[in-house]
Amino acid sequence: MRQRATRDQQRLDSGTVTSPKDLESIQREIVSLAKRQGDLEDVVLEVMERRESAQERVAELTDRVAAVQAKADDATARRDAATSEIDGETTTITKERELVAASVPADLLKLYDKLRAQQGGVGAARLYQRRCEGCRLELNITEVNDVKAASRDTVLRCENCHRILVRTADSGL
Ligand SMILES: [Zn+2]
Repeated sequence: MRQRATRDQQRLDSGTVTSPKDLESIQREIVSLAKRQGDLEDVVLEVMERRESAQERVAELTDRVAAVQAKADDATARRDAATSEIDGETTTITKERELVAASVPADLLKLYDKLRAQQGGVGAARLYQRRCEGCRLELNITEVNDVKAASRDTVLRCENCHRILVRTADSGL
């Protein structure tokens, strides 16, 4: 388009076009070409601006993806650390349990395991201030008297939840 405008201008400047009609037509074409060029430059400018803003958006989103990924990586690392810590604790507690279980009479251990399976993982509960810590119910006076009268070796059971009751100095007896 520019070439055509230049060619038109050269024809005008060379003086070879003599007809006023041709001159007018060429001048009109030059004006029209200049206008189209201006319009096209506006379009190019707009496209460039849009491309620039798209590139900025891409950069922004790339940063956000990187930030989210970093957070995810951090959370994964913390989860893995917690998991290995829990695994370590599980191993330690399992060993401790094995040691304790070995010192408990077989029939009592059997009872405990049965109750534990029945009572949501808690087979024995501490008797604290006359209250069974398994079911949170307070023992009535008859039950307290029965507990008081029982020998140290007697395996006591909660009347309510049937768990093994463990007496301590804080049992309130
Ligand atoms: Zn109970």
